[in-house]
Amino acid sequence: MRANSLSLLRTAAKYAGPRSIAHRSGQYGLRWSSSEARQWSTPLAKTLAEAITTTGPISVAAYMRQCLTSPDGGYYTRHTTGHDQFGAKGDFITSPEISQVFGELVGIWLYTEWLAQGQKEKVQIIEVGPGRGTLMDDVLRTISTFKAFARSIESIYLVEASPHLRKQQAKLLSGTEELEEAELGWKSPCKHLLDCDIIWCEDIRFLPKEESSTPFILAHEFFDALPIHVFQNTASSSIPASSTILTPTGPITPKHGPQVPKNHWHELVVSPIQSPTGKEDAEEFHLTVSKTPTPHSLYLPQTSSRYKALSKTENSIIEISPESLSYISDFAIRIGGANPAPPSPPPSRSPSNTSPVSHSPPTPPFQKPSPSGAALILDYGPAATIPANTLRGIRAHKPVSPFTSPGLVDLSADVDFLALAETALTSSPRVEVHGPVEQAFFLSTMGIKERTERLIRKAKLGKDSVADIEETVKRLDIGWKRLVDRGPTGMGRIYKAMAIVPFADEKGTVRRPVGFGGDVVR
Ligand code: SAH
Repeated sequence: MRANSLSLLRTAAKYAGPRSIAHRSGQYGLRWSSSEARQWSTPLAKTLAEAITTTGPISVAAYMRQCLTSPDGGYYTRHTTGHDQFGAKGDFITSPEISQVFGELVGIWLYTEWLAQGQKEKVQIIEVGPGRGTLMDDVLRTISTFKAFARSIESIYLVEASPHLRKQQAKLLSGTEELEEAELGWKSPCKHLLDCDIIWCEDIRFLPKEESSTPFILAHEFFDALPIHVFQNTASSSIPASSTILTPTGPITPKHGPQVPKNHWHELVVSPIQSPTGKEDAEEFHLTVSKTPTPHSLYLPQTSSRYKALSKTENSIIEISPESLSYISDFAIRIGGANPAPPSPPPSRSPSNTSPVSHSPPTPPFQKPSPSGAALILDYGPAATIPANTLRGIRAHKPVSPFTSPGLVDLSADVDFLALAETALTSSPRVEVHGPVEQAFFLSTMGIKERTERLIRKAKLGKDSVADIEETVKRLDIGWKRLVDRGPTGMGRIYKAMAIVPFADEKGTVRRPVGFGGDVVR
């Protein structure tokens, strides 16, 4: 679990809170020269500082992206020695690592959806951000016991940015670290489902979309790792408006400067602290409010009525993750097909030439004869409100500032579930969204208690030593209770489940998925 208590979330939030925001002087802020004397905590910190010196402060999203997945020492992409990021020896522990029952119930959830949707052929199992591969291992082991479902699976896809984690996943799921190069990325045979390969790629956009396929997509603690942009609503009087726009390649001044409304969204940007304290683990970067509009501040806060509703609330902060929205849109389109393309404008004529300007025909949007498949998203974040001040750093199970030791600290932010739901519904005309519900509700209605009790009974009947049996029973018992703990600091409350399934109302019936208030349908 990234944050093992709400107090931890609160403690971590303070690092990104208003106290760490400083208004900078000058048009684009100060410039820093990379002094030979300055020592940086990591090579990535130095690279980032040098890049910012050249181009100006960067968005929180760009900072997160570099810190998490830079090939040059990102948190997930760096080579770890001895142990990885997960578990007691790593930085955080996630639900699949706490109890095998978590992944087993997710496998059963997929099976119930497959049954309810008429036992389709050509099933694709897809997981984004599989970590150690533990969830997929438990899911596939469970699925392999439902023979007809297992036979319907055509391919298993894992979307993973980290080469080291890909190897670890292969070790667990294929029994080998040797990945064979494949058209989309890499592959190796699945140890649970014979005749089925596991295929890895780095981005979901590389995966084939076929109208006859039924994709079942899993995202556990993936969206919280995707970069966020942060905006603060500040009156023009406190920060002078300017028509200059900060871009990754430097400031530009458009011919006709943007019309900046009175109260408007300013992006929070990251730059190095000029005079660090020199203490170990001191912050090397900080957040400042960009005085000038950025390409993202002009566009992203206008994309939902939820953000517009806050446009008059001074000092409100919103976090938006466009990358999360593009992933969820992809999920919805795979399940329900895309919305039809907007009607094309009438052919235009160039002023000097009266013949119509020729356009190559646009690619038609992906369509499915009937929607099929499902996506299950499990993560932490508020059920309906827009996250604010939630960027956090975790190292060795403790909250730390996100602005220390870039690449050695896990960075994450709350997931905006409502934004994900809105985007799924606007991306595909034939999907519906259920939840988010609390993880405690999802797992309890899926039968976590009953399944754990069965495992405990089985362990007690086994041939292990008394000490080993006691150890197993204790682990199972503590594990399931931790996953559904609804105390203010509990995983059962903080974590949520949300599902995207085919739109069922076409037949005049409403079907709730299991775990979201529905029953098993055959
Ligand atoms: N689902 C796992 C791991 C969660 S950590 C679990 O719950 O235990 C986040 C995972 O997403 C890691 O595997 C990380 O390498 C991967 N990841 C992070 N950012 C990514 C990106 N932009 N593209 C693909 N994978 C990414």
